[in-house]
Amino acid sequence: MHTKFIVVTGGVLSGVGKGTVTASVGRLIKNQGYSVTAVKIDPYINIDAGTMRPTEHGEVFVTEDGGETDQDLGTYERFLDVDLLKEQNITTGQVYETVIHKERNLEYNGKCVEVIPHIPMEVKRRIKTVCEKQKAEFCLVEVGGTIGDYQNVLFLEALREMRLEGEGVIFVHVGYLPIPNNLGEMKTKPMQRSVRDLNSIGIQPDFLVTRSSKPLDDVRKEKLSLFCNVKPDDVISCPDVGYIYEVPPLFDRQTFCSKILAKFGMKYKQGTMKEWDSMINKIKDLTKEVRIGIIGKYFDIGNFTLEDSYISVIEAIKHACWSNNAKPKIAWVDSKQFEKDPKTLSKLKEFDGIIIPGGFGSSGVEGKIDAIGYARKNNIPFLGLCYGMQLAVIEFARNVCGLEDANSTEINKNTKHPVIDILPEQKKIVEECRYGATMRLGAYKAKLRKGTKVHSLYGKDEISERHRHRYEVNPDYIEKLEKKGLVFPGRSPNGVLMEFIELPEHPYFVATQAHPEFKSRPGKPAPLFDGLIKACLNRK
Ligand code: GLN
Repeated sequence: MHTKFIVVTGGVLSGVGKGTVTASVGRLIKNQGYSVTAVKIDPYINIDAGTMRPTEHGEVFVTEDGGETDQDLGTYERFLDVDLLKEQNITTGQVYETVIHKERNLEYNGKCVEVIPHIPMEVKRRIKTVCEKQKAEFCLVEVGGTIGDYQNVLFLEALREMRLEGEGVIFVHVGYLPIPNNLGEMKTKPMQRSVRDLNSIGIQPDFLVTRSSKPLDDVRKEKLSLFCNVKPDDVISCPDVGYIYEVPPLFDRQTFCSKILAKFGMKYKQGTMKEWDSMINKIKDLTKEVRIGIIGKYFDIGNFTLEDSYISVIEAIKHACWSNNAKPKIAWVDSKQFEKDPKTLSKLKEFDGIIIPGGFGSSGVEGKIDAIGYARKNNIPFLGLCYGMQLAVIEFARNVCGLEDANSTEINKNTKHPVIDILPEQKKIVEECRYGATMRLGAYKAKLRKGTKVHSLYGKDEISERHRHRYEVNPDYIEKLEKKGLVFPGRSPNGVLMEFIELPEHPYFVATQAHPEFKSRPGKPAPLFDGLIKACLNRK
């Protein structure tokens, strides 16, 4: 298979939506009838995203095969509707680790191993291997970081070499055009400078994508064309949109896909975006609102909230709302306020439903437990994800089973009632401080019990969801919990691990040890999110 490559680089600032641009181009090409995959290159030394703080780096996205990857892989999966492999997120750490390992094994035949050519060689090998495995006719390669950064130069060098070596490679450069308040005018200079920087490492972009709050006008398009050596037709405007899913049609209207295919000497088929367009038109017209509160801790990064730390949860809420013809209204609630002032719990009544997402450590945990208790007693629809399920079990153990000190050993090692406990094999890993890529990760099957709410939502006896955790419901407490009415509707195939809980008398009190948000796609909502939104609408 001879794969064609579309490399996406970024200029001026980070966070301009390179991932969305990459995924949108991929979707347009997929709709032309080609098999498309995507690779994200991250310049950090970490082997994977699993050891990075989500409030700084964004969500850790878990793949089917248990990769702890950059959140952009989630964007690719949602846009392309494919499952990606963990090796589709390449980091500097992985590349150096392999090269050093090969050197120790004499695989370079006694040569002096050097940064150039051996590091770019390994980068190219990794990209091509992924494309072969995925049988990709097209591969999007997104280079993390910004042009001018010290860290991504070797990756760009690898991609430059690929084009020189005759692989079909085109370059799309995405940059930000600021409109300073005091000027009120869109400025192109930073973008021009970033293209110069790209030129200085031997890369001439084929296309420019201009990110800004407003559309690009012809005057500035001409200017960018002249100074960046790109035809005016190949400068694509990408202003802010209401929903990221509007970007593929926005590009299609500018015949971006047709222009890309033309660069590869390929023809464009008209009318392949009809279904996507009608999805967008539908969601833009929605008026009925569903108010969802996500209870967590988000305020760790100065005065700003980084919603990216739960991006898959947010997208899953949107998908489920749209499928139920409703418009999501999502609010962030800091659980610590409930610890300071329990009266504020009554604020939860303002929501149609609440979600407690995944998390680690003890900060804000008591507030989350209080919120779960409030939702349980006041019939507020509740969905718990991973930590959210563990905390719901703790709440139930304490307040319904009367196990006063019940806790997770993650929070209190010496608790009298460790209703949530670490798996024996995990204990050893933690004692030896082997934290990287050692959680229970990736897709695991679960058997569902007929007649339960969870079974009816999935509509089948066996399901598979993605996981990322070390702790589990302690089997010693299951009988006690069940006796008081907590139902475990789904377990691991060997029956040992509790994968779901529900309360039958409650309008919607469902939680899972898994992360169903990772498999939600537009038009194919995750069943438990779908159930939550339906319960919210019923209650209204
Ligand atoms: N901290 C919990 C565990 O490790 C939950 C993890 C999560 O929510 N992803 O089991």
